Amino acid sequence: MKHLKAVLFLTALIVAGLFAFRTYNARRFHLEQDTRFLMDTYVTIYAVGPASTTKPAIRKAFDRMQAVDEKFNIHNPESPLYAFNEAGTPITDPEILAVTRLALSVSRETDGAFDITISPLVDVWGFYGDDPAVPDDATIDAALERVGYDNLELAGGALRKRRPDVRIDLGGIAKGYVIGAAAETLKENGAPSALIDAGGDVYAMGAKGQTPWKVGIRNPRGDEILGYVEVMDLAVMGSGDYERFFMQEGRRYHHILDPQTGYPSEGTIAVNLFAADPLTADVWCTAVFVLGPEKGLEMVEKKAGMEAIVVAETGEKRLSSGLKRLLKALPQTE
Ligand code: AMP
Ligand code: MG
Repeated sequence: MKHLKAVLFLTALIVAGLFAFRTYNARRFHLEQDTRFLMDTYVTIYAVGPASTTKPAIRKAFDRMQAVDEKFNIHNPESPLYAFNEAGTPITDPEILAVTRLALSVSRETDGAFDITISPLVDVWGFYGDDPAVPDDATIDAALERVGYDNLELAGGALRKRRPDVRIDLGGIAKGYVIGAAAETLKENGAPSALIDAGGDVYAMGAKGQTPWKVGIRNPRGDEILGYVEVMDLAVMGSGDYERFFMQEGRRYHHILDPQTGYPSEGTIAVNLFAADPLTADVWCTAVFVLGPEKGLEMVEKKAGMEAIVVAETGEKRLSSGLKRLLKALPQTE
């Protein structure tokens, strides 16, 4: 009898312990999420942890995203980029300088395929306006005259123009920086396990509880997912001809421009690029798009910790060697 009592007591203790553990886990692995419209897209942040921590952390991350996005917006009269473009005022803002420094190094590595002085060309194509159209040759040539990263000088803690009509556009790199800034804020506020999804540009930080985050790769010519990858501490950024484009006489003209020709870059439909941090992933994603499937993937193979999927104009999907191992097919659903 005494023995039975002891067994019962022990069983009760184990059940209570399990229950407490489950409650503890449920709180620890609670997934908080919120969405805001930012950078022209819906941004959702998911964070693992008690709501008392994750809720304010997510709110602060969104606030920081908004502030950084405003700073990097060339159309915002308060932005140092606006003063630089319009009046030639040198830029000393440390965040903009850090991003520009990376942009310039990628320009050198890609022989100018990625070039933030692309701005006059983006302007004549009208990609930021309501009525984009194919410019005439003379207009393209005049804009191309002003494009060239050599026309920028970054020295002594300031970015300056080497010719007065140079303009910069950080559109190909800023989103990665904004996402990185949000990740930093989440970490600083006690939410190191989080996923930031900015309209398909994703940064997965830490893990989703005890499993990695799953990130789907979208088909650029459809709504379905090509496959997915399981990631931790990895950014997946996308560049595509479907993001911003117009049709004229049956042809598609998109917003990623080739500084060699002055026309939308040819050969690529979409790139998804994987790297440890979102800033690196964003800049290289646009760069690989312009370089094209061949040269672009060659570059990715040379870079440690970088993988990519490039969809060529022909529809052919090419994967870097590491991604072939990482990309998983979705289970067939009926
Ligand atoms: P993403 O969506 O990151 O590929 O960036 C596209 C944006 O980058 C465009 O909207 C332009 O603002 C800018 N951009 C276009 N062509 C280039 C280029 N060749 N080098 C750098 N930035 C570019
Ligand atoms: Mg980019």
